[in-house]
Amino acid sequence: MRTETVTLPSDSPSTFRTLTRHVWGTPGARPKVYTQAGLHADEMPGPIVAHHLMTHLDAAEAKGRIAGEISVVPFANPIGLGHWIAHKPQGRQDLESLQNFNRHYPELAAIAADDLENCLTDDPVQNTALVRQAFAAALDRASVTTEIQSLRIALLKWSHDADYVLDLHCDHFAILHLYASTARPEITCLLCQSTVARLALIQDVSGGNAFDEAHTAPWAALRARFGTRHPIPPALFSTALEYRGQFDVDDATATQDAANLVTFLTGICALNGAAAPQYLDARHLPLGGAPEVFAPQGGIVTWAASVGAEVTEGQTLGHVTDPTSRIRLPFNAPVAGLLFRMELWRSCLRGQSLCQIAGETIFRSGDLMSD
Ligand SMILES: [Zn+2]
Repeated sequence: MRTETVTLPSDSPSTFRTLTRHVWGTPGARPKVYTQAGLHADEMPGPIVAHHLMTHLDAAEAKGRIAGEISVVPFANPIGLGHWIAHKPQGRQDLESLQNFNRHYPELAAIAADDLENCLTDDPVQNTALVRQAFAAALDRASVTTEIQSLRIALLKWSHDADYVLDLHCDHFAILHLYASTARPEITCLLCQSTVARLALIQDVSGGNAFDEAHTAPWAALRARFGTRHPIPPALFSTALEYRGQFDVDDATATQDAANLVTFLTGICALNGAAAPQYLDARHLPLGGAPEVFAPQGGIVTWAASVGAEVTEGQTLGHVTDPTSRIRLPFNAPVAGLLFRMELWRSCLRGQSLCQIAGETIFRSGDLMSD
């Protein structure tokens, strides 16, 4: 194992943040797997899974089982980790720009495609290497004027040429679920069967260019531009894994989740050995079929349904009560499906998102991610 640390260029004098990754395996070995956690710095399930995963990787290294190159960035957002206000961790939005830390990644295809116009070949393997080189060159010349931009570029410099990118997050209250594109469905299945995820939300472009999308969308965009002339394979699988809710942080669960990731890493041959996935595949449903449910008024939220429940269309999920006006309004499921995430707070503002249900039918497009 080796450790690398970079210092982010700072926006303020005498204040510097560092970003650290630990790497197992021979530099340049394939498959290259990049894992990070805590990009939303108020989400601790991912970093504790990363901690236990690293213990497994140390053991695998001692037994000579590391076949690829595996990076782990356990705290991917040193800026957000310092954002506490009045005893509460923030960490989802940058307090300076108010930008979500998991949006606005550079669109690599847009800034690298012209470099590829006259050099692609008829060989998909060679083209994969050429695309990775073009992405690296684009990142090297990216203009960076703020610390949050430098964080995004620093993370992408470590991850852009990976074969697999795992971005570990969590929701407020949630079941284990993940986001993936249509690029590598067999890998999505393997990951679900390895991790006990109950739901895979599938979408090629969700909007906002989150970290996971910033890795798969460029290959799809290059295929759209060059695919009739040159073969461009879906060379990178990336996912955002949502390790349940913010309070689902305990060593027993995280140890099992880390062991399950070892099963996945073995399945993709990043680790030598045999490990069969233990679980049933998740339901694969379109992100465009997952409506949010919004508060009908401000007040106190009480729930009539639990996260993980299968709900019917029109089912009352809970109520919002305003004890001043003494008005109590229900909120109902707009579609039948799986209630996979719920808001943390028991107070709400009118119009605030309260929960989300994964259904079968696509009825929305465009910017699909809540901020
Ligand atoms: Zn997150």
